[in-house]
Amino acid sequence: MDLRNCKKCGRVFAYIASEVCSRCANSDEDDFKKVKEYLYDNPGATIVEVSEETGVDEKKILRYLRESRIEIREEDNLLLDCERCGAPIRSGRFCDPCIISMKKEFTAVLKPKAEQPKIRDLGKQDTKMYTAEIRKKFK
Ligand SMILES: [Zn+2]
Ligand SMILES: [Zn+2]
Repeated sequence: MDLRNCKKCGRVFAYIASEVCSRCANSDEDDFKKVKEYLYDNPGATIVEVSEETGVDEKKILRYLRESRIEIREEDNLLLDCERCGAPIRSGRFCDPCIISMKKEFTAVLKPKAEQPKIRDLGKQDTKMYTAEIRKKFK
């Protein structure tokens, strides 16, 4: 039997797959359920609200966000950073542009001569519109 110390409470437990003991794993699931249910009833709640109402630690809620298990709408407050470029994001690990470009890179590796998706053209259009807008202002 592989005995380890729980990463969270330090209790010795029989290691199976998790770094925490079954007791801590269960309480984590409970917390997650609470957060999820609260968000279901109160879509658009902020982390502070969720934490106050459910009693779940803000850090824990942030981790759920990081793991893309939940999504919280904090309009002026983007809480996470894209791991690739550092841009503020609401959930997950990467911002949308990075996800798109990573997907592109991935596709490029698989099919070196594949046609590029339309997303690239959309980006170009945006740039043009932006430039036109600036020119107008200077006239
Ligand atoms: Zn534990
Ligand atoms: Zn990014």
